[in-house]
Amino acid sequence: MSVRVRYAPSPTGHLHIGGARTALFNYLLAKKMGGTYILRIEDTDQARNVEQAEEKFLENFRWLGLLWDEGPGVGGEYGPYSCMERLDIYQNYVDQLLAEGKAYSCYCTEEELEKEREALLTKGQMPRYMGRCRHLTEEQKAAFEAEGRKKTVRFRVPEGKIIRFTDHVRGEMQFESDGIGDFVIVKSDGIPTYNFAVTIDDHLMKITHVIRGEEHLSNTPRQILIYQAFGWEIPEFAHVSLILNQDGKKLSKRDESIVQFIEQYRQLGYLPEALINFLALLGWSPGGEQEIFSLEELVEAFSLDRVSKSGAIFDTEKLAWMNGYYIKQADLERIVELAIPHLQRAGQIGESFDREWVTKLVSLYKEQMSYVAELPELAKQFFEEQVVYEGEAAAVLKEEQVPVVVAAFLEKAKQLPDWNADSIKAALKEVQTETGYKGRALFMTIRVAATGQTHGPDLNQSLELLGRERVVSRLQNVLVQA
Ligand code: GLU
Repeated sequence: MSVRVRYAPSPTGHLHIGGARTALFNYLLAKKMGGTYILRIEDTDQARNVEQAEEKFLENFRWLGLLWDEGPGVGGEYGPYSCMERLDIYQNYVDQLLAEGKAYSCYCTEEELEKEREALLTKGQMPRYMGRCRHLTEEQKAAFEAEGRKKTVRFRVPEGKIIRFTDHVRGEMQFESDGIGDFVIVKSDGIPTYNFAVTIDDHLMKITHVIRGEEHLSNTPRQILIYQAFGWEIPEFAHVSLILNQDGKKLSKRDESIVQFIEQYRQLGYLPEALINFLALLGWSPGGEQEIFSLEELVEAFSLDRVSKSGAIFDTEKLAWMNGYYIKQADLERIVELAIPHLQRAGQIGESFDREWVTKLVSLYKEQMSYVAELPELAKQFFEEQVVYEGEAAAVLKEEQVPVVVAAFLEKAKQLPDWNADSIKAALKEVQTETGYKGRALFMTIRVAATGQTHGPDLNQSLELLGRERVVSRLQNVLVQA
């Protein structure tokens, strides 16, 4: 039997790192097993659907490279691939359960349900529906209808049953049906609930493995009861652990210590292959020392039994390191393309600019960047007329060699026939011979005087890019102040 998995996001906003990780695990299993990865839009919660969110979701997945074999825009044999287009399909199955007495209409009002909840809580019991409408006669139903009460459809949960399943991540699971209470499968607006729609869809789409977040664990027994009511085969389940923040606490969407949405990473100039690599290791481990994996290598190495049961700590520094690694490996032109809008937004370059110069600038910082949005700040010395010497830089300029070294290099700088990294390097060598200062006393002095910074990329190239005029004027200023 061929593996069929799905990721089924509700388009309620932006694509969260947790959702992207779930999608990735599904994708990896499908590809590893030569199976099919399906994307399905779970849009039954109309109040939470956000305009155009679906398109944004799809765009994020495309950007990450997690392309689906069936789903929106791609089609497939088992469509449509969004719940709201499948309402007729669900209706047939609701009718079947109603006809077989496995579901029933419920006329309870919000207030009645709330009262029942409170009463159970007061008694120290788990709040659940106690079945008030379970055995309504036709007359009682008619009376409620005449009152104009709204109705929902509830699933009749069998009493005294133990629901068992083996989870690929969590092992043997068991739930008592008596703790569940008859749950709603069709809301008063006629739209099925998540638990119902997901079961029908997973069955009809022949899903073999349901891989999703741990937060859905308590939904699984409900879904199993629905499979059983129809006499359908139950898929395998894997509930992936939560993502934790650096303090080991459950990551809340409001936690500002972590950037949480794929779009934000994209805007910051993270590379999709870095995110994929990082997310794969968030809760799954290949069991070796290797940390850098391409998508193909992940497919090769992936297995559900190496998905961890404990929560996965989101290590932002590791992500920055990993992204830096991928930036270093990336084609220079690609990083230049990503950098241009950041430099423009920072006002550092305009609509038209010297592409060759920008390319050199990016190449200078490519080794150092963790993500592209850092560039304007890292490279600000190239865009400021005046440098301000502060802190460590100011301290360096107080050292005794400064007037001698700066004056000597200034003379050379003015006279060099060509201003480029090679000629600058040669000039610095001459300054060394003439003044006797070398190493840090020479290079740090010139770096600080010309850039205002004590650290930075290659000095010769930096000076070339700054341009002779700017270097000369900065050196003159240092001499005046010295
Ligand atoms: N729509 C659910 C979610 O976004 C999907 C849960 C599932 O995979 O069954 O969490």
